[in-house]
Amino acid sequence: MDQKAFTLDPSRDASAAIDGVRVKILLPLPFAGPLDYSLPVNMAKPVAGSLVRVPLSGRKVIGVVWDGKTTENGKVIAFKKLKAIEAVLDLPPLAKDLRRFVDWVSAYTLSPQGAVLRMCLPSPAALGDVPVKRYYVSTGTKPSGLRITPVREKLLEIAADAIPRTATELAKCAGTSLSVVQALAKAGALQVIELSSDAPFSEPDLSSAGPHLSEEQTRATNAICAKVQDGGFAPFLLDGVTGSGKTEVYFEGLAKALAEKGAQVLVLVPEIALTSQWLDRFEARFGVKPVVWHSEIGQAGKRRAWRGVASGQARVVVGARSALFLPFRNLAFITVDEEHDPSFKQEEGVLYHARDMAIVRAKLAKCPIVLASATPSLETLVNADQGRYETLLMRQRHGGAVLPAMHAIDMRTHAPEPGTWLSPVLVSEIEKTLAAGEQVMLFLNRRGYAPLTLCRTCGFRIECPSCSAWLVEHRFRRELQCHHCGHMEPVPDVCPQCDTKDALVACGPGVERMFEEVRQRFPNVRVSVMTSDTMTTSLETARVVGEIASGQLDIVIGTQIVTKGYHFPGLTLVGVVDADLGLRGGDLRAGERTYQQLVQTAGRAGRADKPGRVYLQSYEPEHPVVRALLTGDGEAFLSAEKCSREQYSMPPFGKLVAVILSGPDMADVMQQGRALAASAPIIEGLHFVGPAPAPMARVRGQHRFRMLVHAPKDMKIQPVIRSWVSKAPKIGGVRIKIDIDPYSFM
Ligand code: ADP
Ligand code: ZN
Repeated sequence: MDQKAFTLDPSRDASAAIDGVRVKILLPLPFAGPLDYSLPVNMAKPVAGSLVRVPLSGRKVIGVVWDGKTTENGKVIAFKKLKAIEAVLDLPPLAKDLRRFVDWVSAYTLSPQGAVLRMCLPSPAALGDVPVKRYYVSTGTKPSGLRITPVREKLLEIAADAIPRTATELAKCAGTSLSVVQALAKAGALQVIELSSDAPFSEPDLSSAGPHLSEEQTRATNAICAKVQDGGFAPFLLDGVTGSGKTEVYFEGLAKALAEKGAQVLVLVPEIALTSQWLDRFEARFGVKPVVWHSEIGQAGKRRAWRGVASGQARVVVGARSALFLPFRNLAFITVDEEHDPSFKQEEGVLYHARDMAIVRAKLAKCPIVLASATPSLETLVNADQGRYETLLMRQRHGGAVLPAMHAIDMRTHAPEPGTWLSPVLVSEIEKTLAAGEQVMLFLNRRGYAPLTLCRTCGFRIECPSCSAWLVEHRFRRELQCHHCGHMEPVPDVCPQCDTKDALVACGPGVERMFEEVRQRFPNVRVSVMTSDTMTTSLETARVVGEIASGQLDIVIGTQIVTKGYHFPGLTLVGVVDADLGLRGGDLRAGERTYQQLVQTAGRAGRADKPGRVYLQSYEPEHPVVRALLTGDGEAFLSAEKCSREQYSMPPFGKLVAVILSGPDMADVMQQGRALAASAPIIEGLHFVGPAPAPMARVRGQHRFRMLVHAPKDMKIQPVIRSWVSKAPKIGGVRIKIDIDPYSFM
């Protein structure tokens, strides 16, 4: 616990003596820094990190007593004009390493400090009083005058074991109504106990030994556990092929960390909704459920989790990227699983990359961190090459399973029949697999039925009214949908432009169209589609995942959500419907990303005793990404990729910053772009590109322009960008968004 008392700015001590005490409070609002409040005379000075309630323009806001360096805005408000702190909340103060983390993320991403703090606090409701629940136990006495009916007798007998039960539970056990419970309580035969409705989290059981580890696993585990033992910052890259048992390795690190009294551990995973299998494995090993943190858990769940973590009582958290901002008291170990996953980059609000920030969090918490992946990002590989991370390699699948055999299908010579998308080669492989009683996965990273609807008569393409994007047909729902703003409209009967009836045709395949084709070809098999449209809750996902794992489905068709870390023992054939899809449009990381995605997809095949096969349908089988997959020589591909990035000083060898301008009026947005370009600083090594219309030139009715700043890796770019953007003339109505280390170039 951080007991260091809040210290005042020495330059103000003199006035403090006359005026009273000023306290800096950071509010979870988009303010650049903390605000000054006065300490009421009868209130003890709260320590830094304390949560306090303060007034702000007629509202009550919960903020945090802040320390450390802050960017003063110059103006100091006279003491007598300051508002007073109203109350110090009865919650543990935010630890010092979290406070410095907020400062760091804010400075790095150029986001207001308050906006970063906001990610650390749950909603005010979750910080208020925890609701209490009323439980009943027997008092052991039967007040005289109380008429004992058989049903009352039975109820008192049940309550005699002193286990607290709610009125509903008790009434149910005794087969009676609530009024009987209430009558007995009123008469004094039952006693009411009020308990917090947030049950504490159970302690993980560290006594079970875990599986017998392979030699590679043992080596990796020993390296990690040694650092956990020593404590201190120690970053690892756990680079192990799909199915090599990386989870078992970091489970050992986690168990080692948890053996220390009060230590807490964090596992970041890409999409928490998809981790039913992970949770089952954790529970099988540690006998309890970990704290799960993601958007689906709701207010009460967040309150319980946040408070459990803040008090130090919750020991293990598994969560999506935002779990990085939870108020750990004693963080002792972090794992970022599937560290290459694009979903670790947050693209709204504070733009940060959770993998990179996890490294910073570990540094500040002085603890080891494991970045695990079968396909590490180039960023991480370069850090490992340069000796900043220790690499732990695992090249064998667990239990002698072999990596799947990879094949390309040249779609120019093995074209599908018109109106279909599966080549005869893949169809015959599916037939063989089904005949052997094994399972098939078809991967196509496109939701919906068809990405484009076109009029055969006039060529009109149906576009979103507020974005520069085609509407995607969702045939299951009979709707057209924009995947950028969510706009939906029914599929029209006639062409909106030329009014011709029945002229609209669906162009290209999405997973729903694949489903239709599979249904037609294999009418008797059990098929399911897995996309974010069909898997809307973790429960639903868990159900389908369970069905595949237990062999109740024959073919699963899915987008990227099927590729994430699942273990399906009966799955032996993976068909990639369009291996070239991710390579088109080509931004900086298109090749790397496609490679990672296809290796992960392929990694679902043949994970148990039966060997797997992967077929990649491609019109460009000689493309380096497809070649790398076929030959299994990922290293050659990645070093070529590294070379070309290095040659052009692209990340991770150079730095990029994107500046995205948006607004309702295109002329204003353009003008803002010109103003920024005109005031761009002239510094050696710094290059400005644009402004130019963004590839997504309009989203939700907002016109968008982009600029790109290219800098050498060692340049401290943030102060330069901050001063440039703050000094440039501003055009009203235009939003300026700064994206340090951009991953999206749309
Ligand atoms: P990865 O995350 O590297 O793809 P997993 O950790 O999911 O691999 O392991 C793949 C499968 O092998 C899982 O079913 C896991 O339980 C099993 N496994 C891994 N290591 C061992 C081991 N040492 N003993 C028994 N089973 C293991
Ligand atoms: Zn739209």
